[in-house]
Amino acid sequence: MAGPLVVSDAWRWRGVHWHAYLLPRSDTARWRYRHVRLETAPDAVLADPVAVADWIERHTRARIQRRRTWAPAEQRWVSCGDAEELARARRMHLAIASRGDSLYVDVPTASGVICLFVEAISDEHCTHPYPDPGPGEAA
Ligand SMILES: [Zn+2]
Repeated sequence: MAGPLVVSDAWRWRGVHWHAYLLPRSDTARWRYRHVRLETAPDAVLADPVAVADWIERHTRARIQRRRTWAPAEQRWVSCGDAEELARARRMHLAIASRGDSLYVDVPTASGVICLFVEAISDEHCTHPYPDPGPGEAA
């Protein structure tokens, strides 16, 4: 399948990993700039696109307010936050991360919107200690 959902290995030759931040929407004025976020210790450091997709899915699943909403493009009701929706989002996040790109995801929760910032950063620009990739993953 061609298109935006293709999973590639571009992230490898771009030499990136990701710094992940979980912030309430009410706090995002001060976090608006990428450089400000990157100067802050991340909530998680993610080594590969699967870890990115897992992290986003885990935090989305734990917090999202499930509801039904009308999808004009599809002319049908869709369930926001159900298993099918989460699986589709996960696949999209995996594809985006595999290109070595950053991801920004808003999660509607019962108490307001949570923003997930997952910043791609090249290994050479990272100022935080890079975690051990673990057995079998070492270059
Ligand atoms: Zn880093």
